[in-house]
Amino acid sequence: MTQPTQAEIFAALSAQSSSSFNRSQPPTSTYQSFEQDQNQDPLTQLTIAESENGKKANSRRVYCPRDGCGSVILLDGVGEWIDVNEGNVLPDDPSSPFPPPSSSHGSYWYIPTGPFSFENIGFSRPDKTNLNPLPPHTPKDIQGDISGKVKYLICAECDLGPLGWSFDGGKAAWLDVRRVRYGEVKK
Ligand SMILES: [Zn+2]
Repeated sequence: MTQPTQAEIFAALSAQSSSSFNRSQPPTSTYQSFEQDQNQDPLTQLTIAESENGKKANSRRVYCPRDGCGSVILLDGVGEWIDVNEGNVLPDDPSSPFPPPSSSHGSYWYIPTGPFSFENIGFSRPDKTNLNPLPPHTPKDIQGDISGKVKYLICAECDLGPLGWSFDGGKAAWLDVRRVRYGEVKK
């Protein structure tokens, strides 16, 4: 039998201490960890293979990304993955902990049915400075101009955000797939 190396011992200790720090919370993974998988793209890893109606529903619970918070935001099967090629709404804030939004492409969990579809979610006040017009991916039955009406989705427990966006007077909401953490797939 070989003895563990010092590096292995340190690795085991640090794994232990971080798991005891989060002992009341289930293990979660970042979006970036799914991007690093060489064999499957994040879409495949994060959506249910046989979703109804061809919708790509989330296969994992969605959690607040803040270390030590871990509030459940969305149960599995509730959001639908959509790819957006134009019309980013989230602000580009250099002080934010999130990667800057891409103006050319983004992916969101689309939740058409309002706040009660979430487990926990908070909303900011309408951002009067956000004058982005109605993005092309907004459902066609939503009428009118939402300039100045964008509300950001924030963690209901710790206020971290924006995790996505919604708008004043509407039910639909979009959670940025890159700004949340994911639980394990239920067996
Ligand atoms: Zn939180």
